[in-house]
Amino acid sequence: MTDANPVLLSFGGNLGNVEKTFDSALRNLEKGGFHPTACSRIYRSAAMGCEPGAPDFRNRSVLGTWNAAPEDLLTLIQRLEVEAGRPANHPHWVSRPLDIDILVMGNLIRKTERLTLPHPEITRRDFVILPSAEIAPDLPLPGLNMTFSELADIWRRSRKIECVPCSGK
Ligand code: AMP
Repeated sequence: MTDANPVLLSFGGNLGNVEKTFDSALRNLEKGGFHPTACSRIYRSAAMGCEPGAPDFRNRSVLGTWNAAPEDLLTLIQRLEVEAGRPANHPHWVSRPLDIDILVMGNLIRKTERLTLPHPEITRRDFVILPSAEIAPDLPLPGLNMTFSELADIWRRSRKIECVPCSGK
């Protein structure tokens, strides 16, 4: 592990053909210089906090490497989100075709106006922890001194798991 690698991403979305959107986002990330090494199954969970009747969310975690500045990865991700149909100034809790969060970049810990690493919501989301534990069980969460497998175990013991895998690959 170098300072900023490996990189762990979380893909999410609940509008349109989300699996297709995830595939095309992954191809475009690769074109932009991200090198994926592992992809979790896709998990489904109810849309929490969204508008009434919102479709279920799909989420998957993707592990890889990135050799430029962290902010450049965020810029690429935000361009792909907009290209997938998400307005640039999207409110937080509404349906969306594609949302990509940078969960972890190596052992970087930072908090700027644009980028917080590790992503601050990780420990509150089973749909992030479970798919991540599938592909990166031994990856530590910087600042917490705990791996994703340990986080998943804690969640399984202490909280109800709401997300379910919905694809075999
Ligand atoms: P969201 O609506 O959850 O996609 O949040 C997008 C906003 O979160 C953007 O303004 C980003 O600049 C900011 N942000 C901060 N840290 C991160 C991160 N680790 N990954 C993705 N977006 C981030």
